[in-house]
Amino acid sequence: MEYGRIFNFSAGPATMPVEVLEEVAAEVLNYRGSGMGVMEMSHRSKVFQTIIDEAEADLRELMGIPENYKVLFIQGGATLQFAMIPMNLMKNGVADYIVTGAWSKKAYSEAKKYGRVNLLATSEDRNYSYIPDCSDLPVDPEADYVYICENETIHGTTYQTLPNTKGKVLVSDQSSMFLSRPCNVSDYGMIYAGVQKNVGPAGMVVVIIREDLIRTDLDEKIPTYLRYSIHADNGSMYNTPNCWAIYVCGKVFKYLKKIGGLSEMARRNEEKAKILYDFLDESKLFHGTVDKEVRSLMNIPFVTGDKEKDAAVVAATKAAGFENLKGHKSVGGLRASTYNAMPREGVEALVNFLRQYEAEHQA
Ligand SMILES: *Cc1c(COP(=O)(O)O)cnc(C)c1O
Repeated sequence: MEYGRIFNFSAGPATMPVEVLEEVAAEVLNYRGSGMGVMEMSHRSKVFQTIIDEAEADLRELMGIPENYKVLFIQGGATLQFAMIPMNLMKNGVADYIVTGAWSKKAYSEAKKYGRVNLLATSEDRNYSYIPDCSDLPVDPEADYVYICENETIHGTTYQTLPNTKGKVLVSDQSSMFLSRPCNVSDYGMIYAGVQKNVGPAGMVVVIIREDLIRTDLDEKIPTYLRYSIHADNGSMYNTPNCWAIYVCGKVFKYLKKIGGLSEMARRNEEKAKILYDFLDESKLFHGTVDKEVRSLMNIPFVTGDKEKDAAVVAATKAAGFENLKGHKSVGGLRASTYNAMPREGVEALVNFLRQYEAEHQA
């Protein structure tokens, strides 16, 4: 492949579009005649202001983000949001969490430090291999919000329909599915995503939050940096932001617009995932680990059912030039992350390899 690159199935930080990396490489020493690279310029410069403004405008256009939502670029990754959400959104001090995997479980545990947190539903009984029925849950009348992780990166499940929150605000962690398909932003009070899974470099989270949820009446003791209001009032530049991530994400937003937007991206992602799922469904050696109707288009775990065989397959994929296919320890086996930037050819090559492997290792 170009530049000696390999097919990288990492769950994050993850593969990026070559076209974007080429542009970034070309500009690294001198950004458009400014005489300096983006890593070296003041975040208060006109040049950088244009970069951040365009990034926000392009993201708004891609997702159709309504006027009454703010777009914030915040550091600390998705993990910091596990605390910022309860700190900022709990008015009554109550929240409902739906736990469908490792990431929502972490968010749930963190939120408990700040108030009364109800476990509204969970799929822990079958190692998070399904999404519970969320059509009629006992939502707490006092709940300030209902929380979900819309695509569980480790377990490989995704919501097909959003939970019925009975009028409560929905907060969604979209880290591992952000911009993978069209999204109706008005269905949510807040969406957030760590960008290193499906968009850009690590170290930043995009927060899309309805304006009326941004409070200014918070406890004085809440650190300044951890208030959504401070980021909203300062255009994500209260302090020095992650300029580099904003710049590279901005390029990815333009790239997505160019290829036809999120519906085209969804079409490609569905086509790509189907190649692997079709193989898994007919394979005698490998099988997927989650219920068919909720399987993720982005993270695809699969196993042989035998730990030693799994390890041998992982080693063989590595030797054949596929990277980062080892499954997370809580699921075992293999996991192929097929994010936006994974080309169809990568999945085809992997399936050809697995098919061949199966033929050579028939029980
Ligand atoms: C990776 C991931 C996180 C954590 O992201 P950090 O940027 O490392 O804090 C949270 N939620 C989901 C769904 C993830 O995939």
